Amino acid sequence: MIERIAYFDLAAQVRSIRGELDAAIARTLDKCTFCLGPDVEQFEKDFAKSCGVTHCIGFNSGTSALHVAMRLLNVGPGDEVITTPFTFVATSWAISYAGAKPVFVDIDDATCNLDPARIERAITPRTKAILPVHLYGLPFDLAAVSDICQRHHLPLVEDAAQAHAAVYQGRPAGSFGKMACFSFYPGKNLGACGEGGALVTQDAALAARARSLREHGSATRYYHDEIGYNYRMEGFQGAVLGVKLKYLEQWTRERRRVARSYRELLAGTPLQLPREPAGSQSAWHLYVVRHPRRDEIKKHLEARGIGCALHYPLPLHLQKAYAFLGHRPGDFPHAEKAAGECISLPIYPELTDAQVHRVAAAIKEFFAKRPASSG
Ligand SMILES: *Cc1c(COP(=O)(O)O)cnc(C)c1O
Repeated sequence: MIERIAYFDLAAQVRSIRGELDAAIARTLDKCTFCLGPDVEQFEKDFAKSCGVTHCIGFNSGTSALHVAMRLLNVGPGDEVITTPFTFVATSWAISYAGAKPVFVDIDDATCNLDPARIERAITPRTKAILPVHLYGLPFDLAAVSDICQRHHLPLVEDAAQAHAAVYQGRPAGSFGKMACFSFYPGKNLGACGEGGALVTQDAALAARARSLREHGSATRYYHDEIGYNYRMEGFQGAVLGVKLKYLEQWTRERRRVARSYRELLAGTPLQLPREPAGSQSAWHLYVVRHPRRDEIKKHLEARGIGCALHYPLPLHLQKAYAFLGHRPGDFPHAEKAAGECISLPIYPELTDAQVHRVAAAIKEFFAKRPASSG
């Protein structure tokens, strides 16, 4: 019986720091600081520093941080926000929650990130912001997108939910936009023991309003300046994230090791491998390869006890929830092609070199056994 290789192994991570997590959780229990509190405040300071920004506001999810980002820009009914159709749906939920319309722009084949060359055609007088995603942890073309934002006086919001510790031209992802939002969902590169998220910004006024919006629109208890939310980060999550943040750099290095091995081992196979454009360092949240026979490859790997996943099988413009936007197949051909070809291989800090070799060997076996029939 061969050992299974999990697509993702959260238990291995928890095991590696179990003592520290237990102690941090116990301290929070002793203090009974369950909603926000000192652990959250400390984590906010540390995370802001790690992102190279001045303000970090902790949230109860990445989705709620993104929603508040839209509120901070006064995005509302009648407005449009430009984003990618090839992302996790929470990106466009934020726009929808604010009552605005997500305007999708197709992706670039090489990176699966929003293609800057297509953005300007989508800008209208109603455009309020641009919300691209550092998909799979790879920074989108920040130079090109920032330039468009400047020329059109549009704020840039980075969806950095998958990009903790990613680097673009020497600076951390999340430090470029007017704001950036992170997720600490357990499966993210920096994950809570539950839900969590953050909004980071250099702008003190935006930060103050974000703190108010996350807490019922109030800076002073029981006085409400505007309609807000209960989007507070839990004390336990602040404590857990404070422990885990210390390991983020090391964990990111391990992810790089895995990505490097895949690149070496899979070079020469018919797979399209992910690459980092010059000046970009991916956070390697996911290792996504592409091939038209993706479904067969997935079955082949699963039959050999190797977990894999699809990110994402259906682009947002074709989701039932967005049928009212009236999109048709063919509207965003690059996103649709990616959705049919992408397959995510196991990548996490605890994945051993031997396991990476086994995954690569299984893929090579697939192509050796089943050479392309007609291309
Ligand atoms: C995970 C994720 C989110 C949402 O974060 P949650 O913490 O799960 O609410 C948003 N955008 C992207 C791209 C994500 O991957």
